Amino acid sequence: MAASGKLASFRLPPLPTVGELIKLYNLRAEKQLSQNFLLDLRLTDKIVRQAGSLRDAHVCEVGPGPGGLTRSILNAGAADVLVVEKDTRFIPGLKLLSEAAPGRMRIVHGDILTYRMDRGFPVNISKPWEEGPPNLHVIGNLPFNVSTPLIIKWLENMANKTGPFAYGRTQLTLTFQKEVAERLTASTGSKQRSRLSVMAQYLCTVRNCFTIPGRAFVPKPEVDVGVVNFTPLVQPQIQQPFKLVEKVVRNIFQFRRKHCHKGVEKLFPEACRIELTQEMMQKADVDPILRPTELTIPHIRALADAYAHLCTNEPSLLSYEFREELRLKHLTGQKHIPIDTFIAT
Ligand code: SAM
Repeated sequence: MAASGKLASFRLPPLPTVGELIKLYNLRAEKQLSQNFLLDLRLTDKIVRQAGSLRDAHVCEVGPGPGGLTRSILNAGAADVLVVEKDTRFIPGLKLLSEAAPGRMRIVHGDILTYRMDRGFPVNISKPWEEGPPNLHVIGNLPFNVSTPLIIKWLENMANKTGPFAYGRTQLTLTFQKEVAERLTASTGSKQRSRLSVMAQYLCTVRNCFTIPGRAFVPKPEVDVGVVNFTPLVQPQIQQPFKLVEKVVRNIFQFRRKHCHKGVEKLFPEACRIELTQEMMQKADVDPILRPTELTIPHIRALADAYAHLCTNEPSLLSYEFREELRLKHLTGQKHIPIDTFIAT
């Protein structure tokens, strides 16, 4: 029975329930911060299980709020839980929780969008990228208006091995509005296939774990919620800089229902649009009449490689933005804007 003795050693002592804490500290959910709390610990345990074993793990929990998910993370055996919470009102309740788990919980009052996670954990927990993920997990039930910009930022960090990925292939387990969770994991040909699907899937294995009905939250949001797990790939499926891939994918998906060459055209200034689009499609060997949603990651890789090749020959292309050309035409009344206008300064 040694194992159960060990298990008991990291379980939290009796505490007021999360609901009681909310009443005790008068923690009304703030609509502007899109706060929706999870009070059912079976559900928070289920989210935490998606991250895999947390025994002795380091965890960064984003937006702990009244601390329901935090309790599940601590009960799962995490050794070091760093919580980042923006709203001051939650800090006293979180302190109570940290006193119940001495030496295992650190509280940062701050904004996860600017927090330097690369400085939050000891360097010696790092694992070489080619090896398995480090024993560091990022877990969070965030507001929807934060989780989408945050995952875009973290995907860029993943590509550059910075932020949470300065320690290696750190896994993320995060909640999103159900539709966003579906887009993140949508496969080629599906209705939800989007820019987000490609950007996430070229860099990591993305798993849509389960859906939480809106009614499980207090107060109840308008939508259901998807729990998504991300594990960075050892080798990204596209070997080009993140910003270049992002630009190609953004342009292709701006006309979701049209043939993909329509979006590709917008990568090039009007003066050389037709020839360069043809050259790029031929070089990539992609059928120009495929719809963006029908493109596989290898198709996008071929397109990104072809675009990178064209940019090597003509570096000013890299800073060209279709919308900027439109804006300049509108401002100056010129029919054609010279290509060197777009050379980055
Ligand atoms: N994790 C808690 C739960 O599951 O009950 C609270 C979830 S609530 C949807 C989101 C939490 O994230 C709130 O506590 C909110 O104050 C916090 N939050 C919102 N924006 C944040 C940001 N930029 N950085 C850190 N925390 C943030």
